[in-house]
Amino acid sequence: MENIRNFVIFSHIDHGKSTLADRFLELTNTIPKEKMRSQFLDMMDLEREKGITIKMQPVRMGYTLKSKPYILNLIDTPGHVDFNYEVSRSLAAVEGGILLVDATKGIQAQTLANLDLAKKEKVVIIAAVNKIDLAHADIEETKTEIVEVLNIPRNEIFAISGKKGTNVEILLKEVIKRVPSPEGSVEKPFKALIFDSKYDSFKGIITYVRVFDGKVRAGDRVYLVQADIEIQIKEVGYFTPTLKPCQELKGGEIGYIATGVKEPAKIRVGETITLSGVKTIKPLPGYKEPKSMVFASIYPQNPDNFEALKEALNKLKLNDASLNFEVEAKELLGRGFKCGFLGSLHAEIICERLKREYNLNLIISTPSVVYKIMDKKGKEKTIFLAKDWLSESQIKEIREPWVKLEIITPADYLGGVMEILEGLRGKYIETEYLTQQRLLLIYEVPLRRIIIGFFDQLKGISQGFASMNYELLGYRKGNLVKLDILIKGEKEDIFSKIVERENAFKEGKKMVLKLKEIIPAQLFSLPIQAAISGKIIARATIKARRRDVTAPLYGGDVTRKRKLLERQKKGKKKLKERGQVHIPPNVFLEMFKS
Ligand code: GDP
Ligand code: MG
Repeated sequence: MENIRNFVIFSHIDHGKSTLADRFLELTNTIPKEKMRSQFLDMMDLEREKGITIKMQPVRMGYTLKSKPYILNLIDTPGHVDFNYEVSRSLAAVEGGILLVDATKGIQAQTLANLDLAKKEKVVIIAAVNKIDLAHADIEETKTEIVEVLNIPRNEIFAISGKKGTNVEILLKEVIKRVPSPEGSVEKPFKALIFDSKYDSFKGIITYVRVFDGKVRAGDRVYLVQADIEIQIKEVGYFTPTLKPCQELKGGEIGYIATGVKEPAKIRVGETITLSGVKTIKPLPGYKEPKSMVFASIYPQNPDNFEALKEALNKLKLNDASLNFEVEAKELLGRGFKCGFLGSLHAEIICERLKREYNLNLIISTPSVVYKIMDKKGKEKTIFLAKDWLSESQIKEIREPWVKLEIITPADYLGGVMEILEGLRGKYIETEYLTQQRLLLIYEVPLRRIIIGFFDQLKGISQGFASMNYELLGYRKGNLVKLDILIKGEKEDIFSKIVERENAFKEGKKMVLKLKEIIPAQLFSLPIQAAISGKIIARATIKARRRDVTAPLYGGDVTRKRKLLERQKKGKKKLKERGQVHIPPNVFLEMFKS
């Protein structure tokens, strides 16, 4: 074990983790030159398109220092707040971490958040200022920030360019020098932690593991402590970063175990694996179950795909332990799921992955926070979706989640940032000067106000320089109402929304007008109304459309006529039917966009 080093690269989003990993892959000849591409470890198409890392990705590299060969297991991590859970899990599998800070951006909210996670896991931290090749890089100021905010001595901070490769090799040598080799013993009984997993149609569930003690081979029978099941291992191997089978995995190593298990529910991230027969072994500390912050309903655009969606969600959960879901009652849109996410970007990414990896086109409702309502009898009810709201006469008190919002901004943008923060109508707590140039602002705000659009607003006003992080504080009283939408006199639950009482009127009007604009005209006139507790507060009417699509055609152009009728038929098939009203999926997509 003495020649093994396990480490992560962590930082705020875009500070250069995946690019630095590229240089390590080159330096260690892990990826042949002709196969190299930028951000190699962002293996998902979606990651490459969005230019962000969504999944942690382990890779094993070989490096020789002073004629001694080393195995270096690196895990590249995501930097966005919604994917913090990925970071915390990868930290449990390593002994060290490189913390990157972009020399043009300085310390950001996720730098601090990730540092906290790293300290909790007690990993050795090596700090590096990155992007020093850029003309506007302020290396000394960034070092000062690291010294002052992170308490790391100045002479221990590296200055590198992941892009150009400057000082990257000395940084790698420092990893070997400073990150401790794994503790544990190959002689002890086998014991490993599952820190991630994915589904493979041939090999069954593939678990990503950190082995702590002992060794394991294909064919061995192992025991999953929490699931209380025994399985026979199909294959073991490590990450190159693609899966490469090997003879055995030993204590201290990071690798994968193909389980052959096909039922996703049986295997959980955070699980301990031991050799069969050694059931007395103490399980490793797992992970705290991540708490879903926002909920939304998801429906297949084609209601026939309900079962396919269910299976896809189960498989995706293997690869994203922070996703939660349960079946929902039948709705206007057919059957669907109530899903819990860590944030709206997380929700967006999940839907995009379902579309790409499982070929499912979906309708997702606007993500909403979880409310708690105390009814007149003193009983508390948890509300995940607006449609489960109680009627006004039953409600005694409504409470909603508040978060501690931390914003880091350069002093130059303070004015604009304060302005949008005031718009959240939360509670100002304090301002702290991290350095002369950089401020940390702390507010307490309702989570509801920051889950949609706020992040973009913050980026916009600060030209991308301000960043945010938040954590749940607890529940506080709110003055909220449920806004209903009625189409042709029928309440359509899917459009229901929780809004502030004082904004209800404005919001109702906005929704009605938007629906009027996007619902196609029907064969009859269609009233659309907004209501609170049955009281109509806004209305609009979509005028009827003419019945005969071929009427404008003169004479007997049969093929053209047939074409039109055919198209009408096809269009109809696509429409969501409910009685006589046809609402195509894009109406929902459009409504839930903002
Ligand atoms: P991550 O989100 O931390 O993984 O960051 P990426 O590695 O994806 O890099 C984000 C952006 O910064 C990309 O456009 C990179 O090309 C760029 N970048 C990364 N490292 C450097 C560097 O050292 N110098 C310069 N000029 N750009 C860099
Ligand atoms: Mg990345």
